[in-house]
Order: sequence, then C-alpha cells, then structure tokens
Amino acid sequence: MEGFQLLCDISELNHLFRDSVSVEGFLQKTVEMVTHRLKTDVCSIYLYDEEEDLLVMRATQGLHPDSVGLVRMKPSEGLTGKALRELRPICESRAGRHPDFKPFIGTNEELFDNFLAVPITRGLNRIGVLVLQRGKRRKFSDEDIMACKAVASQLANIIENARFLMTMHAPHEEKARPDAAPAEPGMIRGKTACAGFGLGPCRILNREHTLATLSRRDYPQAYSLADFDRAVRTTQQQLEDLQKRVEEKLSDAASLIFASHLLILKDHAFVGEMRKRIEKGINPPLAILEITRQYLDIFDRSESPYIREKVQDVEDLIVRLIDNLLQKAGPTEGLGHRVVIARELFPSDLLRMSSEEVAGAVLVAGGVTSHLSILARSLQIPMVIAQSPELLKLADGTPVLLDADIGNVYVRPNETILHSFRNRIQAGTTLKDRKVKVKPETTTRDGVRIRLMANINLLSDVSLAQSLQCDGVGLYRTEFPFIVRSDFPSEEEQYWAYRRLVESMGGKPVTFRTLDIGGDKVLSYYPFPQEQNPSMGMRSIRFSLDNRPIFLQQLRAILRAGAGADLRVMFPMIASLDDFCQARQLLRQAADQLKAEQIQHHAWPKVGMMVELPGVIPMIESLAAEVDFFSIGTNDLIQFMLGVDRTNEKVESYYIPHHPALFRSIRDVLVAAERHGREVSICGDMAHEMAYLTVLVGMGVRTLSVEPLFIPQIQQILSTVDSARARTLSEKVLGAGSVGEIERLLGIEHKA
Ligand code: PEP
Ligand code: MG
Repeated sequence: MEGFQLLCDISELNHLFRDSVSVEGFLQKTVEMVTHRLKTDVCSIYLYDEEEDLLVMRATQGLHPDSVGLVRMKPSEGLTGKALRELRPICESRAGRHPDFKPFIGTNEELFDNFLAVPITRGLNRIGVLVLQRGKRRKFSDEDIMACKAVASQLANIIENARFLMTMHAPHEEKARPDAAPAEPGMIRGKTACAGFGLGPCRILNREHTLATLSRRDYPQAYSLADFDRAVRTTQQQLEDLQKRVEEKLSDAASLIFASHLLILKDHAFVGEMRKRIEKGINPPLAILEITRQYLDIFDRSESPYIREKVQDVEDLIVRLIDNLLQKAGPTEGLGHRVVIARELFPSDLLRMSSEEVAGAVLVAGGVTSHLSILARSLQIPMVIAQSPELLKLADGTPVLLDADIGNVYVRPNETILHSFRNRIQAGTTLKDRKVKVKPETTTRDGVRIRLMANINLLSDVSLAQSLQCDGVGLYRTEFPFIVRSDFPSEEEQYWAYRRLVESMGGKPVTFRTLDIGGDKVLSYYPFPQEQNPSMGMRSIRFSLDNRPIFLQQLRAILRAGAGADLRVMFPMIASLDDFCQARQLLRQAADQLKAEQIQHHAWPKVGMMVELPGVIPMIESLAAEVDFFSIGTNDLIQFMLGVDRTNEKVESYYIPHHPALFRSIRDVLVAAERHGREVSICGDMAHEMAYLTVLVGMGVRTLSVEPLFIPQIQQILSTVDSARARTLSEKVLGAGSVGEIERLLGIEHKA
C-alpha cells in the first residue's frame, strides 16, 4: 500500500520543486524520495531531448552518480527507450536477459534485475522516462506501477514548467546545434557489426572535415622545395611499407591496396603542379591544398562509388603528405591505434585500417548485414554502426572507447568507465579475448549431428575456422579477394589463394561460391554501368555469364585448386533452372579445357546453387532434380522476398528473418531436397542468430555455415536442443500466419 500513500502525498513534489535551487537539484530530490517511498534500490529520471532525439539520464539514486548526463540513448533503444516509444509502462522481472536490454558499463545497473519504466508525457509531448530498479526476487507490483504513473504525471507538469524556466534563466547558454559534436562525455548506442573492443583517439574520415581542418591550420613557417620533395619521398616510403605489411598479413588480397595513392603521388598533374607552384614562391602546404582542391573538384562531379573511393585515397594521401611536411622527421600518425569514425568506408579502407592496426571503427550509416560489416569481421576490426552523424563533428583526437561487443560508443570516457573496461580486459571477458573450447563434433542434446561449416571471406579467416574445428567451408565468398584488390587477379593468383584454402582444410569439404559482385560489392577497377537498382542489376551470376572469360578463368582456378579435394562449387543469385544449367555448362567447359591441356584438376565436383531469390521457391522441385545441393542465402532471400534493402537502416525494422514466408520457403527447399536426396545448408546471417537455431533444427536443417567466430556459441546452444521438441516448435511456427504469432512462439521481442 506504500504506492497509494505516495499517491496521496504527491503534492510533496510541488514543495520539493519550490525548495529546489535548480531543476537538477529538484530531480535529484525526487529520485531520492521515490526510492525511499517505493522501497526500491534505484530510481532514475531520463529527459528526452527532442532536437537530438536522445534520452539522457538527468538524476539517479542507486546507480553510479557519474552516470548522470553520461547515459544516453535513442528512444529506439533499450527498455527505457521502449517505454517512451510505446508510451506504456515496461515491467520486466529479468531485465538483464531481455533482448532489448543493453547494460551501461560503470552504472552498476546489472545488479538490479527487476525493472520498471514509465513514460513521462504531457499531451502529445514526450518528456522523459521514470525508471525504477530492484535487486533479485523483489518484483514490481501493479500498485508500484500505479504509483509510478502518478509520480510521472506530476513530474510531467513540473518539468515542462521547469524547462521553460531553465531557458529563461540561462539566456546566454548557447543551444547546441542538432548535429553538433557531443561536447560532454557521452555514450551512443549502435549496433555491433564486428564484436571487439577498441580505445584510442578518434580519426574522422570525412572529406570536408579533413580539407577544412587542413585549410584552417596555420602554416607560419615557410617550407622549401627541398622540404616538399623530402615529404613526398617519406610518404612514398610509408606507403610502400604499408603495402608490404598488407601483403604479409593478407596474401589473397595482396594486390596494390595503396596503388592509387602511389600513382597519384607520381602523377605529374598532381605533384608536378604542386612543385610548379612552390617554385613560384607559394608555401608548400598551401600549394598542396590548392592542387588537391582542383583534383577533388573534378571528382566531385561523379556519383560513382569508384570515384568516391578515389576521393578518400586523395584525402588520405594529402593528410600524410602535409603531416610529413610539417614534421619533416618522424612518422605520420596515420590510422594506427585510432578509432576511425566515418560516414562511408570502402573495402580498401578496411584493408588499409587493418594493416595499420586501427583500434576500431564507427560507421554512422549503413546496415549490419552489409558486406562492409562482413569484411570487418574477417579482418577482426571492432566495428559499430551508430546512426549518429554528430560523431563526425568530433575533433580529431577526441578519446573514444568502442565496446563493439554490445555496440556502445563512449565519447571522452570518464575514469569510471575506463576502469571498468580495464578490469574487463584483464579478466578476459571481451568476446574476442575469451578462450573457447569446442568439441570436434556438434550434436543436439539427443545426439542429432549438426554440421557447422565456416563462411570464409579472406584467407585470414581460415586459422580461426581451423582452431574452432569447423566441419569444412560451407561458403567461400570468392569475391572478397576481388573486392579488396585494385585489379582482377589472374587465374594463377586465384589458383594459389584457392589452393591454400583447400590444403588448409585437410580433406574436409570446401564450397566455392563463384563471383558474387555487383550490387553493394563493387570492384574499384571495373567500370560497372550506372544502374538505378544495382542490387537487382548486372550482378552476381549475371555478371559472370556476361563476362565469360573472367568466369572461365575463375572456374579453371577453382577446379585446379580442388584437385583431390572434397570440392563443391555453387552459383549465386540463380533465378532459374536455365541460369543454373548455363553456369554448369561453363564449369563443364572449364573442366574440358583443363583436361585437354593436361592440367591437374578436379574432374567433376558437386555443383549446387544459392537459394537467394524468392522466384526459385515455386521452381524448387525442378531445381532439386538438377543440383547436387542447395545453400540458402537468407541475407538476400529476406531482402528480395520482403522487398527490404539489406543495407538500408531506415527500413531495418521491415527486415524480418522470422517472417512466415521465410520459414515456409526454407521448409519447401528442405522437402524438395529430401525427396531428391540433396544436401541443404543455410549460410546467411540467420544461421548464426541464436533465436532461430532450435526452429531450424526442428525443420530438419542439419548443416549451418557461419562466420567462424560464432561456432562455439552455436555449438553450445545446440547441445541443449532436443530434436523432438524442436520439431514440435517448428510445426507450430510453420502453421503460424503472422510475424507476431512467430515472435510469441520464439520469444522474440517485436522490433518497432
Ligand atoms: C546471403 O545472401 O545470405 C549470402 C550468404 O550471401 P552474401 O551475404 O554474400 O550476399
Ligand atoms: Mg547473397
């Protein structure tokens, strides 16, 4: 009945307000009072900043006092955000296990499992959220919820007035622009693209930013032509060293990543023009900037991603060049040990970052299933995707801590946060550091064997796949070495890379997917035609069928590399039986050529196709009669089945793997494959989503192909699955007609 007593004493809040000297003081007294009255361990108030679309903690009793002002989130995030978003109380007794729950390191909130959040609103205005938390076994009752609602409604009135007063009393306080850089320490929630942890000064990759910063700098010292020439030589040397490092680290991607930098550096129209200006008496830094601007003005007219990539190269180059000029001696800082923040990154940027040992990356646009995220995971660059363009306004060098395990970005982390991270690292609790034990075979609790194959993007993934005892390679995305290079690899180069992969698998099956370029996987050295909808354009198998010499070269390299191995070849984006037969015919042609040339090769591998286009589902019987196996690429299948661009974060909530159409399509593939004795695997990201493992096993999936780092957790979860129960669950899921019904069956929280 404490709650009702509080309700009666609500006028106390007005007294508290009148007695307070500041709004902050009032909010603090309020949380202290509520904590005491409702016998709760924690009470916090979050206020909503509409311009920045952020909920910021403004007072707390029970959590670490440093959390005030520091804990921030979008209304689209967390349980607190959910209360404001859905305008209803959220009451959870095991908040820590809720999919929406993300702990804020350093606040101590993980100690309190019972959670109650009530929105503070007035009319249509969203003002904030009142949050209560309690330790174990002290659930919130209906009366607590009622009392909390009463406090929230009273607070709404007072805060609205107080906000007005705050503006009146602080007329000189400049309001931050909506996209201004966060001035205070803060935390931004994003999504994990590649788990890990990174701490370092930030480096903003943003052309305007870089050029503006360089132009704003003072260049009081007059430099000579000799200084300039020395800077050019030093820059060249650095780039060549970096190139060497890439080659050592990533042999399959070893073509000249820094080629365009080096070429620009040797270009007469670039360095030559700069020299001319310097000879006329212009200070070298200014000459560099002037010519750079002219270069970039030409590029500006282009929309093509290829050109935009070049712009980034030029930008990177002039930063190095000017740094080398100003410092004369001593290396330029480059990206090493920095947290890179960018709106757009190219595969070559990631490669460069990897060779320079970057601390991590934050991308302020894009989707987690984009190929950039996949590549970041191959290169093990901790990466977060955070829809927060204000991060681009941070000054270069601002300390940033990246907790990519849970997707948090801390700007200017305070000592408390740094301390708890140091502890975490020491305890080896970040996902990356955790030493994992895996068994050579994966089975369900009742002994059903599940094959866990590895998705390989670059050869650098292989050692992890081996150490985690994968059952073979279920998907080798052969386009990745093509994407990160700056020219087409020759048949010989491909052969050597493929052979290394095959040999490293020691007799286990290796599945090569032929080139899947186009769409968001562009080759910087190939002039793709401008297309309105590149992901539905001249891509993937269509590109290969249209560029036969390139395709044949690849098929020959695969067959040669697969000699004596358990080789499988599959074709991406197959839309019809005709596509498949044409592609297989070319594989036959490659095998015939090699035979005629007496070159050692695999006589005839298993030949399969990716199921990525919904159009093949009604045709699956006819296809099953022809193929040796199917591999279901759920990333694209979802994209095309539901008409949702997988790289567009704006429609992210429509990208629903647990859509009934998806499950029923997978069932259709499994049924047809079984009838014809064909193998089926799932190789899209859905295969590593823990929420779907049981239902997939229940439907009869026996092979999953995933990025190696997911293998231990999947193995562990599968060992708890009972196949008979899984079957019952899958029958219910397949009978469900709506997304909501499936969410209830699988215990998935609805994404708003
Ligand atoms: C897929 O589409 O699910 C898939 C595995 O291929 P990618 O992600 O390379 O398009
Ligand atoms: Mg695909």
